[in-house]
Amino acid sequence: MRVLVVEDNAAFCRLVVEGLVRAGFSADEVNTAGAARKAIATVDYSAVVLDLGLPDGEGVDLLRTLRSSTRALPIIVTTARDGLDDRVLGLQSGADDYLVKPFAMDELVARLHAVLRRIDPPSEQTLEAGNVTLDLTNRLLKIGSDVQSLPAREFDLLELLMRNQGHVIKREALVTQIFGKHGHQGDGALDVYLCRLRKLFSDANATVRIDNIHGLGFLLLDAGETISHAAAARSLRP
Ligand code: CA
Repeated sequence: MRVLVVEDNAAFCRLVVEGLVRAGFSADEVNTAGAARKAIATVDYSAVVLDLGLPDGEGVDLLRTLRSSTRALPIIVTTARDGLDDRVLGLQSGADDYLVKPFAMDELVARLHAVLRRIDPPSEQTLEAGNVTLDLTNRLLKIGSDVQSLPAREFDLLELLMRNQGHVIKREALVTQIFGKHGHQGDGALDVYLCRLRKLFSDANATVRIDNIHGLGFLLLDAGETISHAAAARSLRP
């Protein structure tokens, strides 16, 4: 991941770049807003560390320009200790976070990791609905304290329902997702899998249930929840 450090204090800039490199980032340094614009136009940076006080223009103007472009580029602004207005202005202008100088490198690295995670969150490891948890890594179903493995297609079916909790999924969509494009033979099997999942839910006192909305499809709801046909129709997944 390549980070651009924009900072007119060349010595401090160098320290930050070195710190980022030690933390495993690649980093470039520029000392002016003009050089920053050029660098960002040519390199696809993962994040920018931006000093708001620059000699050739306000960092805030650069920040606004970057924010008005479509790409979601994480930006952490750095400001002087007495620059409270700068901080507020920075955040209002779209910075993802700010740091007051002098700051510890560990702090900058932690903030960078945090904003990068927000942009690109790690893929989910578990899905939860009521007291039902689906462990996607180990492909296990947990209801309350009861843990069990599921046959592949039942697991896939439940995963789909849980990912779309509160939304109706059409029968044809479920069949296609579970059995593939030529899944017409899976139509009857879908009912078998749904029936087995419902039995598991009931045996282990799940606090969610799988509802069949007549003429629409299926959805996962809280056990005590009811949904009108009209609301179900509005919730339909395309
Ligand atoms: Ca400065």
